[in-house]
Amino acid sequence: MKKKMLALSMAVLMAASLAGCSSGTKEAETTAAASEAGTEAAESKEETKADAAEEEKTAEGGSLVVGTNATFPPYEYYEGDEIVGIDVEIAQAIGEKLGMEVTVEDMEFDALIPALASNKVDIVAAGMTVTPEREKSVNFTDSYATAAQVIIVKKGSDIASSEDLEGKILGVQLGTTGDGLASEIEGAQVERFNKYFEAIQSVLQGKIDAVVIDSAPAKAFAEKDENLVILDEALSSEDYAMAINKDNTELLDKVNAAIAELDEEGTLDEIIDKYIPAE
Ligand code: GLN
Repeated sequence: MKKKMLALSMAVLMAASLAGCSSGTKEAETTAAASEAGTEAAESKEETKADAAEEEKTAEGGSLVVGTNATFPPYEYYEGDEIVGIDVEIAQAIGEKLGMEVTVEDMEFDALIPALASNKVDIVAAGMTVTPEREKSVNFTDSYATAAQVIIVKKGSDIASSEDLEGKILGVQLGTTGDGLASEIEGAQVERFNKYFEAIQSVLQGKIDAVVIDSAPAKAFAEKDENLVILDEALSSEDYAMAINKDNTELLDKVNAAIAELDEEGTLDEIIDKYIPAE
C-alpha cells in the first residue's frame, strides 16, 4: 500500500517537472515578447496591481446586497436596464464608505422584508417607512429622508379631499403604508397592486378612483402625465430608513456610521437634491 502511494507520488512529481520544463521554455518566450512590448507591459502590470488592490478592498469589506422595488421614482426606478435613484446612490455611497461592493436586487415591495429574514439581501433601501409593525421584524437605520402619503386622482375627478372617499375605489401598492392608510378609510374599497405604476394606469383608465401613494413618487408620476392631479393634503408624516435583519447589528452600526458621515459631508443632501431639485 505504502509502496504504491510512493510510486504514484513519484509519477506526479515527474509529470510536474516535465510540465515545468516546457513551461520554462514558454516563459522565456513570453519574457522576450514582453521586453519588446516595453512600456505596454509595464502599464498592464500597474493595472493588475490596481485591480488587486481594489479586490483586496472589496474582499475586506465584503459585499452588500441591497434589496429594492424599482417602481418608486425618484428613489428607485429603471433607466434602461439600470436601476437608479436616491436610494441606489445612497446605498452606493454607503458601500464606498464601508469598502463593500454593492449589488442591487429588484423585487416586489411585499417581498423585501421576507428577503431580509431569509438573508437573500443584506439591506433594504426602498423608500421604506419606519413603522412600529415593521420594527417588530427588522431593525431600521437612522432616517435619511421624510415623506407623506398623498392622494392622486384623474383630472376632473369629484374627489377634492380625503373627505370624499366614501364609496370610492382606492388603488395602493401591496404592503405599503399607503395600503395601511387606505384600508382604514371607512366606506372606501381598496384595490392592491404589485406596482404603483399599475395603480396609476388604472386611475387613468377610470377603473379606480384614486391612488394613495408617497409624495415624491406621486410628483414623479404626475410630472409625466397631465391627467394626474395630486390633492393638496398630507395623510401622514413618515420617515424613510433602510432596513436590516435584526441579527445583523454589526452591519446596522456600520451603516449608521456611514449615514452620519454622508449627512455631515452634505452628500445625502446632494444626492436628494439631484433627484428632487428644491422648488
Ligand atoms: N413608503 C412606503 C412604505 O414604506 C412605500 C415604499 C415603496 O413602495 N417603495 O410602505
